[in-house]
Amino acid sequence: MKINAVKGFRDVLPGETEVWSRLEEAARRLLIGYGYAEIRVPAVERRELFARAAGETTDIVEKQMYTFDDVDGTSLTLRPEGTASVVRAYIENGLHGREPVSKLFYLGAMFRRERPQKGRFRQFHQIGAEVLGREDPLVDAELLVLLAEYFAALGLATARIEINSLGCAACRPAYREELRRYAEARKQTLCADCNRRIERNPLRVLDCKLDAERTLDAPVMVDFLCAACGEHFRTVRALLAAESVAVTLNPRMVRGLDYYCRTAFEIVAEGLGAQNAIGGGGRYDGLVASLGGPSVPGVGFALGVERLVLALRVPEAAAPFDVFVAPLGDPAEARAFRLARELRREGLRLEIEPGRKSLKSHLRRADKLGAAFVLIVGDEELSRGTVVIRDMRGQRQLEAPLDAPSIVRAVRRAQ
Ligand SMILES: [Zn+2]
Ligand SMILES: [Zn+2]
Repeated sequence: MKINAVKGFRDVLPGETEVWSRLEEAARRLLIGYGYAEIRVPAVERRELFARAAGETTDIVEKQMYTFDDVDGTSLTLRPEGTASVVRAYIENGLHGREPVSKLFYLGAMFRRERPQKGRFRQFHQIGAEVLGREDPLVDAELLVLLAEYFAALGLATARIEINSLGCAACRPAYREELRRYAEARKQTLCADCNRRIERNPLRVLDCKLDAERTLDAPVMVDFLCAACGEHFRTVRALLAAESVAVTLNPRMVRGLDYYCRTAFEIVAEGLGAQNAIGGGGRYDGLVASLGGPSVPGVGFALGVERLVLALRVPEAAAPFDVFVAPLGDPAEARAFRLARELRREGLRLEIEPGRKSLKSHLRRADKLGAAFVLIVGDEELSRGTVVIRDMRGQRQLEAPLDAPSIVRAVRRAQ
């Protein structure tokens, strides 16, 4: 019986993995340049970590988490996002005691039981970064500059950054109440989900797709910011404007998680269908304390790798081979096998196949692999202590001594 992958889980095959590597390497290079260090956190955490961090009433916690009981009864969850785990690790390992500021990045798989659709899977991958210990607007602006640099480096011209401020503990309650009153008055016209949200999480009414048209005149947070939040937001936007990083104000953006405050942002790109976000993030100043840590502010982002790959839409060519080794006959095969090892040590990307094939079939295979050169090792050449190097593009042949350094020299010269 054939066993297939689980629904919503997929294989990333050669041809696409090259794009992934390019995305990951570009991210690493950039993040390290901006002062970040990599952190690797486990894929499994206690359920309560996400419930407390994201909020019990968020879609993630209510509907999307893979949660199961361990044998000892502990309720465990496959991480649906990275921030909660990074903050847990930050607190648990006492990183705040070592450095006043921690800049951390991660790459890895996340799990959410959503309806699978274009570019959206139940196991998906994120590139994320968190800054803990900075509350100044400079660092918020720096994160967005970094993202703009990243999209430029990838050649992702359609990426657009939308920004909003979600206020703080001082100014959001008044806004929340105003929005609750607004939604309450329109209860009959709003969808069933929104009716549930009115009391528990009225902000979510603003990102309801069904009711978007009906709530166009809803009050927005930016009109309710306290003096400190207003100043913070103005500075972030001024710094970005000065650096010519284009951001669009989206006053209706609320982000899915309860822990965000002040700066919030989303990155959207074209060609992704209705769900056009490729990532997002924002400030979460109360999160570290709410998870039992010290009162340390935080800000960060996460990008969806599958979404980025889809937005890039560039099929990456597989890396070509420098050399294909074609032994002819058994004695030649053993000698060619050792030569292949030596040449790979010299840094050549190389393939070798068994000696029982004809030269014609070796050449066909080398052509298929896109090898630039074929090394023909036959009994005759062996007895002379040489190999034949065939240039697949120039269709020329030359003979070289059978030792790795001479072959590498000959190949490099002919390239
Ligand atoms: Zn405020
Ligand atoms: Zn609704």
